Amino acid sequence: MNDLNTSAPITVAHGDGIGPEIMRASLAILDAAGARLAIENIEIGEAVYRRGFSSGIEPSAWDSLRRTRTFYKAPITTPQGGGFKSLNVTIRKTLGLYANVRPVAAYAPFVATRHPKMDLVIVRENEEDLYAGIEHRQTDEVFQCLKLITRPGCERIVRYAFEYARANGRRKVSCFTKDNIMKLTDGLFHKVFDEIGAEYSDLEQEHRIVDIGAAQLADTPEVFDVLVMPNLYGDILSDVAAQIAGSVGLAGSANIGDRVSMFEAIHGSAPLLAGQDRANPSGLLLAGVMMLNHLGQSSVAERVHNAWLATLEAGIHTDDVWQDGSSHARVGTGDFAQAVIARLGQVPQSLPAVRYSANQPLELPAVTRRPPARKATVGVDLFVQWNGGPDDLAGRLKTLEDGPLALKMITNRGVKVWPDGMPETFCTDHWRCRFMNGGGPVALTDIVALSSRAALAGIDFIKTEHLCTFDGEPGFSLGQGQ
Ligand code: NAD
Repeated sequence: MNDLNTSAPITVAHGDGIGPEIMRASLAILDAAGARLAIENIEIGEAVYRRGFSSGIEPSAWDSLRRTRTFYKAPITTPQGGGFKSLNVTIRKTLGLYANVRPVAAYAPFVATRHPKMDLVIVRENEEDLYAGIEHRQTDEVFQCLKLITRPGCERIVRYAFEYARANGRRKVSCFTKDNIMKLTDGLFHKVFDEIGAEYSDLEQEHRIVDIGAAQLADTPEVFDVLVMPNLYGDILSDVAAQIAGSVGLAGSANIGDRVSMFEAIHGSAPLLAGQDRANPSGLLLAGVMMLNHLGQSSVAERVHNAWLATLEAGIHTDDVWQDGSSHARVGTGDFAQAVIARLGQVPQSLPAVRYSANQPLELPAVTRRPPARKATVGVDLFVQWNGGPDDLAGRLKTLEDGPLALKMITNRGVKVWPDGMPETFCTDHWRCRFMNGGGPVALTDIVALSSRAALAGIDFIKTEHLCTFDGEPGFSLGQGQ
């Protein structure tokens, strides 16, 4: 936050493709509206990748981000081929940008959409889930990606969603997960949603399984208000939402962290449009509006947003939202920006005007860590590469039983195949072999001894996963068919 006369330091990256043109247009509008910004420029993207920095950012650029703590970023082009890491994922994880906030609204009848009443905000968890990037090839046939969901991660994003809803006059928060299948990981997200939701009885709240929730979002988006969900579902559904609202070119997003926040359009660098003065700068501009609110310059944010709505209403449209019959002037990026600048101070006549003046940046309490649970190790899953059948494997594994650990079951892709497997079950070369002590405690040395006997017997095990209870609750899934 800054007072009325001080400029807020921000870091700006002009990006690749259409990035430089839409950033120029957006900054011109923000400047004309009276935004007080002290800009530090950094270079990111294709040229930096080509200079050998595999994340697309040079080490010195991090100093600027740490100094200004606010990043206004144009889209970049990620070079094709191996060895290049996603700059966005690197920035989000390195700077702890845990909340990805994507408002999506329809602007009917000025922008064509089948969902004229749509007006929602997707709050996507931004650091965890399958995006941890922990992948392994384990056998000839099987590849694994670890899905990590943490209690502090769930608590932060869920509380952010409720606080956001309250601060922005929203009435309902919907949570999407797949906890009927992923009972521990998505189950935790849902559980935390219910726990934290109990503190927000002024807001309507609901949980939906993500598949039917996604279908309803695509069919009747107007029934949703704020949505909160784990990373992957949020990534996919926020693009779906932006597209059905009218254009991916219209949506901006904020990536919020405790220390640094980043503001960008949701779309990419559209290389085929680059350098033609045809791109729509609206997504980046609306990200700029979110940034001004974040910096406490809410009256400037309101001026920009209302002038932009008035421009849309006047039928001054870039190619991507042009409609024969209802649009009046087809303009390029630069002229669109000039049209918005000319309307600064105006409010839209038929679209609802925005009002931001009372907005304050969200102040969230720090996540309180719980005292550790009473943890007991009760067994181990030994994952094995094996090219035979389940009964042969069970016969070999039985010879390893010496001590408290006894073979309890074998699953293949999560389906129980021993004992009492079904001949129809298709089996790969990747087997989960569960050893337990009849529910009793197991020492880590028992697990090491079992692994050691397996190695000596020539069993090709590729990982072990310990089975633990936490305050008496099992911390592991059962095999299907159990
Ligand atoms: P894209 O979003 O760049 O383009 C998808 C489609 O939307 C294209 O038809 C494009 O012309 C159109 N479009 C996008 N933005 C527009 C705008 N402002 N005005 C008018 N039309 C617009 O997605 P893509 O083609 O899959 O990706 C292109 C490059 O962008 C890739 O290198 C990708 O890795 C990168 N990318 C970067 C980011 C980012 O920096 N945040 C995000 C997504 C993709």
